[in-house]
Amino acid sequence: MNPPPRRAPRHGPAPVDSLASLVGATPLVRLRRIGADLPGVRIYAKCEFANPGGSVKDRPALRMIEAALLDGRLGRGRTLVDSTSGNTGVAYAWICAALGIPCALVMPSNVSAARKRIAQAFGAELVFSDPLEGSDGAIRKVRALVDAEPDRWFYPDQYGNEENPRAHEQGTAVEIAEALDGAVAAFAAGIGTGGTVMGTSRGLRRLAPGVRCFAVEPAEPLHGLEGLKHMASSIVPAIYREQELDGKLEMPTAEGWAMAERLGREEGLQVGHSSGAAVAGALALARRMAEAGERGNVVTVLPDRADRYFEPRRWDRRTSW
Ligand code: PMP
Repeated sequence: MNPPPRRAPRHGPAPVDSLASLVGATPLVRLRRIGADLPGVRIYAKCEFANPGGSVKDRPALRMIEAALLDGRLGRGRTLVDSTSGNTGVAYAWICAALGIPCALVMPSNVSAARKRIAQAFGAELVFSDPLEGSDGAIRKVRALVDAEPDRWFYPDQYGNEENPRAHEQGTAVEIAEALDGAVAAFAAGIGTGGTVMGTSRGLRRLAPGVRCFAVEPAEPLHGLEGLKHMASSIVPAIYREQELDGKLEMPTAEGWAMAERLGREEGLQVGHSSGAAVAGALALARRMAEAGERGNVVTVLPDRADRYFEPRRWDRRTSW
């Protein structure tokens, strides 16, 4: 008698029906050199660049789209439209392409040619706003479009949509807490819309009792930490509730840039400047803990990779902010 057929052991992930189902479950990597001099404290970085669209914004974009498909705000030929300075636009563009949804993106006309080409490569329509008004100008422009023709568009409004932080509360935070068995002493993440820091902090407070949560904010109103917002000089996002956090860490542009370079050279993590700022914030928390004789894990989030910024603003040109 023949032995029963043996199934080959699986050496990789199972096949999936849509790229959209590969959002999340990103690696959590311990930093081995940065903070190595701090006894009893470990820094871990959540590698959000490993999402299919290359950034942390895949999570909220997918969640906002799925919620709108479920309750009927999207579908029936409606076009998704939102303002974005980059990563959210890429996320909307590829997820809409994957799910067969028309997509239009409003962005300041001075965003890099590479950014425009990425969105267009996924078939998104681009609408430009005044470059001098920055991301707030793009928000005003998208609101005017939607007010003029409300039935034509679905406007997820990542700055006011609670599905944005919820994607992190039910995704990012759960993954971090599981990976570290609930042992998270402190968490720090940059503020753009505030989705990452608010949602992950909410989830961690449930799953890692005693955790202290901090937002990393650019120290200057005119800064070079793309993706992050200086709250005092910006429209404050409705989803951002500073009173829920334990504090803010002010990060000078130069420090964020220097840490992004260290991450490449010392950890093999070639990440964007907001990641540099986030890790510099995490390191400051780790130092405070070590000085107070506390032990534990400090967790932060790496939103995207450096290559998104290589052209045309040269990575090594430090005078561009
Ligand atoms: N870093 C980068 C590079 C980003 O694109 C964003 C999103 N604007 C953030 C950080 C901040 O993320 P959030 O919107 O969740 O606050």
